[in-house]
Formats: sequence, structure tokens, C-alpha cells
Amino acid sequence: MKTIGLLGGMSWESTAVYYQLLNRLVRDELGGLHSAKVILHSFNFEEIVAYQKAGEWQKAADMLLDAARKLEASGAELLLICTNTMHTLAPEIQSGLNIPLVHIADVTAEALRAKGVQKAALLGTRYTMEQDFYRERLQEHGVEVIVPGTVERQDVHDIIFDELCQGQVLEHSRRRYCEIMARLTEEQGVEGIILGCTEIPLLVQEEDACVPLFDTTYLHAKKAVEMALSN
Ligand code: GLU
Repeated sequence: MKTIGLLGGMSWESTAVYYQLLNRLVRDELGGLHSAKVILHSFNFEEIVAYQKAGEWQKAADMLLDAARKLEASGAELLLICTNTMHTLAPEIQSGLNIPLVHIADVTAEALRAKGVQKAALLGTRYTMEQDFYRERLQEHGVEVIVPGTVERQDVHDIIFDELCQGQVLEHSRRRYCEIMARLTEEQGVEGIILGCTEIPLLVQEEDACVPLFDTTYLHAKKAVEMALSN
């Protein structure tokens, strides 16, 4: 079994889910007392968010790459960045490493295609919904990507940072997400919705929408386990 390196803590609320998923998926596959081989570097999220807000992506890239190199030197054989947003730095991080970085958008696109979804809505932080890095990566796989309108994007973003990343899962926010997802389905005709932020699956589940939901945390962890267990 290969050792999985995690860049986590962005936020730790979802990194905890990753850790649980990796171990459960390995146990499902191998049975008994088998569990995942994992090395975690967990950041102080406040420092990451400060760089995001200031647009200091280069400083964030330096910090993430430094940690990723340490994971590689400690024996990680593949790497996950446990957040969709920070995949904006994925090309730079991958180019500084010898181990593969498992790109969360590639894994998501693969799942969309497997289900025959050609037009999908993307929910995530404003960085993920508004910058090109994520949408373009999906589009390279032939997926058409729709994002919510301005006001909806702000609400989706604020609920992530002000609540989910701080451990608060609130009913009125779940209802707001349901409303946004229903609107995207009815008005834009999307065939699936990407939960493109690793905390969103803490808030909404399959029954909250009338089209399939794509849980990027789960899909990312599942791909990592497949790779870790392959020869
Ligand atoms: N975990 C979130 C994501 O998947 C947001 C936190 C961040 O800004 O990294 O995008």
C-alpha cells in the first residue's frame, strides 16, 4: 500500500472527513484491521485565509510547496491538497514535486463523465467559482460548467467560511443551498451539481437536490485509495 500525503487544515473540519474516509475505504477494500497509510501536514487555516484575502497566492504557494516537499521527503507517494480552492496552486505545487498530485477537478470530471453529466453547476468558494483554474480544468474534460449568480455566489462563499469551516452546520443555510441548487436545476438545466468545496458535504446531501450531487471530498479520497492500493 502506498502512503498518502495530505495538505490539510483548510479547514480541519473537512480534513477530519478525509482522514475518516481514507481509513474506511481502505478497510472496505482490505478488511480486518487494515487502515490507510497517511502523513498529514495541517495548516493554521487563519494564515491561509489571510493570504487568500490579500491575493497573496505566491506566498501561499511557497508555503504549500514547502509542506508538500516535506511530506514527499517523509515518504508520501502521492499527494492530496484537501481543498478545492487551493488547487489554484496545483500546477506550481506539482511542478516542484516528484510524486503525483491527485487533482480534485480531474477526479470530479471523471465522475461526472461516468454518470453522463455534460452540464454541471459548481458550488464552492468565490475563488473556485470565479477564477478560471477550476472551471477550465473541468471544461478540458468536456464538462460545461455553470456557476450561480452574484448574490448566490456570495451566500455560498460566506456560509463556507463563516459557518462550515468553523464547525457550524445550520438549517437555514442548508435551506439557502437547496434554494440555490433548485434554481440552477430549473433555470439552467444542469444535470448534476458539484459540491466543489470540501466542507459543503457537511451541509447538504443527495436528498437536498433533484439532480445527482458530486461530493468532491469523497471522490478525491476514493481516488487516492484506489491509487494507494494499485501496483
Ligand atoms: N475547503 C474549501 C474548498 O474546498 C475552502 C477552504 C479554502 O479556502 O481552502 O475549497
